[in-house]
Amino acid sequence: MKAAEIRQTFLNFFASKGHQIVSSSPVVPGDDPTLLFTNAGMNQFKDVFLGFDKRPYTRATTSQKCIRAGGKHNDLENVGYTARHHTFFEMLGNFSFGDYFKRDAIQYAWELLTKEFKLPEEKLWVTVYAEDDEAYEIWNKEVGVPAERIVRIGDNKGARYASDNFWMMGDTGPCGPCTEIFYDHGPEIAGGPPGSPNEDGDRYIEIWNNVFMQFNRDEQGVMHPLPKPSVDTGMGLERIAAVLQHVHANYEIDLFVNLLAAAKSAVASATPSAGGENIDSNSPSLKVIADHIRACAFTVADGVIPGNEGRGYVLRRIARRAIRHGYKLGARTPFFHKLVAPLAKEMGEAYPELRQGEQRITEVLKQEEERFFQTIANGMEILDSALANNVAVVDGETAFKLHDTYGFPLDLTADVCRERGVKVDEEGFNAAMNRQREQARAAGKFKMAQGLEYSGTATTFHGYEHLVHDSAKVTAVYVE
Ligand code: ATP
Ligand code: MG
Ligand code: MG
Ligand code: MG
Repeated sequence: MKAAEIRQTFLNFFASKGHQIVSSSPVVPGDDPTLLFTNAGMNQFKDVFLGFDKRPYTRATTSQKCIRAGGKHNDLENVGYTARHHTFFEMLGNFSFGDYFKRDAIQYAWELLTKEFKLPEEKLWVTVYAEDDEAYEIWNKEVGVPAERIVRIGDNKGARYASDNFWMMGDTGPCGPCTEIFYDHGPEIAGGPPGSPNEDGDRYIEIWNNVFMQFNRDEQGVMHPLPKPSVDTGMGLERIAAVLQHVHANYEIDLFVNLLAAAKSAVASATPSAGGENIDSNSPSLKVIADHIRACAFTVADGVIPGNEGRGYVLRRIARRAIRHGYKLGARTPFFHKLVAPLAKEMGEAYPELRQGEQRITEVLKQEEERFFQTIANGMEILDSALANNVAVVDGETAFKLHDTYGFPLDLTADVCRERGVKVDEEGFNAAMNRQREQARAAGKFKMAQGLEYSGTATTFHGYEHLVHDSAKVTAVYVE
């Protein structure tokens, strides 16, 4: 089954169960300042869950464009390293707004997976929220999943990847306990079952999350019960496609095959001499490029342009990360924008904005690429020399210089370093950044005192920090 058919089968299945098929909302959320990019199918229904908005239906189903490259759900660093994470992906979902709850949600999910998609039951594992006896009983007694394939999982706060069966859209907003369905890709692949110490391998892959929306979390972390218990689910189209197409990694599905080939030839055409002939088709860098063109193209299609703050900076980070991977494979001239056309060919039918915007998206990305190609070679030279002599850490001053002078976002520098098993001194980077911010502020004050124009850098900075601050660290900040 091709990805396009899977998408349609999902929507039709839920339409047959009384769900309204609703179009994807843009990747840029309409008026939600708590959210950088749409990160789940439920985002467009947030106010319906909260009881602030009403729809003419109580059941809906969507295929939602999602981006997870900043904020609470950030998978940027996973891309290229796991078989299952993208920055951009499509989330298939069914929603109940105070209509059905746990029992029907679980039954529907099981019916779709085992009857419609005909997945073997013994390959499916489920997790439930540790205290959710009700969900456990439904899975075990009503659906018949044996106890050895049902895992109870708690909040696991703080664990980087570990399963977490309490789903939250962000630090605030609708949330609730969830039950997740995993597919066992077989013993040839490393990784333990959900909840086990080595669960983060790619053998047992989470395909579907069913969230029982019950609370609204406020800024103080207090949980307020929602007006009506509801259901929000999300299944990654690329992950279920991998299962149904009998491949392991998302990158092996039909949707990606042509895109990877296009990435290879675009990079090859930008590689001087005959170097392009030798590019390994399985290179993780090609996967990163194929992934990132989707995130970049959809983001530009929805109105974002590369810039130095907020969404524009996330776009810039993703684009430059992709360009650096092309550079690593040998590209010395712009290649990335050439992937917009093959992408529009692959996904333009489902998402016409790609076809309509093809020229503009290509042009926007080309400009960004031309700009970065002016500094990347010098920046890479500096980074390479900082990485010489088996250092364990690249110092913060160098990382900051790369950021400030050569346009290397911190995560790009970290990505290069990670390939060589080296860390970046993020504290030192932030210190250098703060120092420069202070200097800029002082200069601004000085100018004001002199009666000159105020440069206004401080506000720029706060806007970005507010949006992308990711609890543990300031991923990247901008001061002009
Ligand atoms: P994981 O634990 O694998 O990171 P998750 O628990 O963070 O996934 P959810 O927030 O529960 O994911 O999202 C619902 C579904 O969306 C997942 O079950 C998965 O199928 C899909 N999904 C989530 N993140 C990604 C991603 N970065 N790329 C592709 N699919 C994803
Ligand atoms: Mg995740
Ligand atoms: Mg998970
Ligand atoms: Mg999940």
